[in-house]
Amino acid sequence: MANDASTVFDVVILGGGSGGYAAALRGAQLGLSVALIEKGELGGTCLHRGCIPTKALLHAAEVADETREAADFGVLATFQGIDIKGVHKYKDDVVAGLYKGLQGLVASRKVTFIQGEGRLSSQTSVDVNGQRIEGRHIVLATGSVPRSIPGLDIDGDRIISSDHALKLDYIPKSAIILGGGVIGCEFASVWKSFGVDVTIVEGLPHLVPLEDENSSKLLERAFRKRGIKFELKSRFSGVEYTAEGVRVSTENGKSIEADVLLVAIGRGPVSTGLGYEEQGVAMDRGYVLVDEYLRTNVPTISAVGDLVPTLQLAHVGFAEGILVAERIAGLKVVPIDYDGIPRVTYSNPEVASVGLTEAKAVEQYGKEKVVTLKYNLAGNGKSKILKTAGEIKLVQVKDGAVVGVHMVGARMGEQVGEAQLIYNWEALPAEVAQLIHAHPSQSEALGEAHLALAGKPLHAHD
Ligand SMILES: Cc1cc2nc3c(=O)[nH]c(=O)nc-3n(C[C@H](O)[C@H](O)[C@H](O)COP(=O)(O)OP(=O)(O)OC[C@H]3O[C@@H](n4cnc5c(N)ncnc54)[C@H](O)[C@@H]3O)c2cc1C
Repeated sequence: MANDASTVFDVVILGGGSGGYAAALRGAQLGLSVALIEKGELGGTCLHRGCIPTKALLHAAEVADETREAADFGVLATFQGIDIKGVHKYKDDVVAGLYKGLQGLVASRKVTFIQGEGRLSSQTSVDVNGQRIEGRHIVLATGSVPRSIPGLDIDGDRIISSDHALKLDYIPKSAIILGGGVIGCEFASVWKSFGVDVTIVEGLPHLVPLEDENSSKLLERAFRKRGIKFELKSRFSGVEYTAEGVRVSTENGKSIEADVLLVAIGRGPVSTGLGYEEQGVAMDRGYVLVDEYLRTNVPTISAVGDLVPTLQLAHVGFAEGILVAERIAGLKVVPIDYDGIPRVTYSNPEVASVGLTEAKAVEQYGKEKVVTLKYNLAGNGKSKILKTAGEIKLVQVKDGAVVGVHMVGARMGEQVGEAQLIYNWEALPAEVAQLIHAHPSQSEALGEAHLALAGKPLHAHD
């Protein structure tokens, strides 16, 4: 192994996804010399197989629904169908544009980008392409890949993961989606809009089970109305091929047939065979363990993103990458409040939240200390114009701050920015009620919910 000792980088980053490239960009901005090693494409899951392509599909799905429903708005349009090639071209163009921009950004910040599969070779080096890359600090950011369960082999044809679903060059007549979490619900939403007969199979009692129960129930109601079928409390027991597709059976005796099965039961860390354990990095079930400053037990090694057991979201990866770069550069950093991170499921309707669910707040503060308020979007002019239904639910500590905001309805993902300020600045309902929201906007619904919680509802019954 050639050891080019002439270059010792301040930071060597393994993995160029959201977490890794954020650490690289911020590190370089702070004057650190940075090497970024990526075996696939810069941008990782989020840009190529996650956030961006799925949201492009969801937007195409929205256009399809709006075309179908055009007459409800007095617009004459005929929905003729989905040109899946055209959908992919639109999606791929969005990704390609952002990819080019990101490559330019990394180059302009003078990050040394190394294309190749790396392996941790010591506590201060990574081997890649037959070369040893030395660093004062190492950041592990190798991310995650779709997970399956024993007895369920993803063949990429009839039994697929989200990676395959994003590239499917035909529209199946029917699909079973195993897993009613964010990814499962987003694909269910897209496929239904594209005309697919969709059934979600979820082992837990609700869809999007990490959300406040009220949000799950509202999403279930909306999905039911859209004709998206779901089997809750139904644990997968087996799958077999049929002449045309697949048959899935569940432990509670259900048997469902469809053209394809999308396995969306979560994502597992990428860490096997990468030298982490050999170098003494503490791990748990493949995840790299870190403290609140994203430090592993090895002083020279940090880890970020989906590889560590925190929320698997791109903006979490960004935040963790930035924190690590700033810490290495000697800036004062504060730990991330993971409850304060906005979470959005971009289905139709959208589910958006920040802070504690009611159940978590009760656990933390006690039942008698928790106050909740629901504001129905039926009272919001802009939501009415959009013909969307839903609710905003606030969770407050009695006589104290708002500690949870949970929203369901079209475009609610765009409202989560304000909700995040409310949570993170520990705002009192009366303080938010003081802020004047533009009329008619959906943000007004958030304002009105706080007016009501402060005891002075406007467009809501007392
Ligand atoms: C379908 C889907 C939809 C999603 N939608 C959203 C969303 O709307 N919003 C959101 O916030 N999050 C979303 N996510 C999650 C988001 O994509 C991830 O949380 C994020 O990409 C994690 O970033 P990361 O840097 O930790 O890992 P990754 O993005 O997985 O990047 C890791 C990188 O490391 C590279 N790598 C791995 N091993 C090696 C090696 N040995 N040598 C060199 N390189 C290596 C990989 O090639 C990869 O590029 C979605 C995910 C999926 C699958």
